[in-house]
This record gives sequence, structure tokens and C-alpha cells, in this order.
Amino acid sequence: MSESIRIPESRCPYCGFAITECTSLLAGDLPVARAFAVCCGCGNLCVFRDDLKLRLPNDAEIEWLLNNHAAAEVRQLVARARAFIALVCANRN
Ligand SMILES: [Zn+2]
Repeated sequence: MSESIRIPESRCPYCGFAITECTSLLAGDLPVARAFAVCCGCGNLCVFRDDLKLRLPNDAEIEWLLNNHAAAEVRQLVARARAFIALVCANRN
């Protein structure tokens, strides 16, 4: 996991969590437009817009996630991110 990077302040389209930083689960990756992101507030899958704010995945992106063989890696990363979020939340309580 790489260090966190400041991005333009954004709100998760699912839960409204304020997001000002992101961390890649793949070392060295920077946030780019149309890359998938997992919200630290709710663990849902979002997508970076051109301005690096978050949006809901569109129908084509959801279709890709459901049907593309390469999407298995994305689903695995989402599961890892959700496990990490749950661990952080558990340590706060
Ligand atoms: Zn969220």
C-alpha cells in the first residue's frame, strides 16, 4: 500500500463521507480519472471523475465489473479495502 495522496475534497456519492486523501492498494499507483476507488466511510465502490472527485460507477463500469475476467482483481482489491476499513473502525471503538 502506498502513502496517502491529497486530492480535491469530494463527498462519497453513497454515504457523503468527506474525502480529501486517497491511498492506492497497488504500490506506486496515483489516482487517475475513471479509476475505481473504495470509500473509507462505507466501503462502496466509486470512480474518480476527471477532477479526481468521486462519482457513482456508470452502467458500463458495473457491467465490466460483473462480466470481465480482469475485474476479479478489482473485486479482490475491494474486499481487501473493506477488510482494512473494518479493521480501522474496530480499532477506533
Ligand atoms: Zn461512502
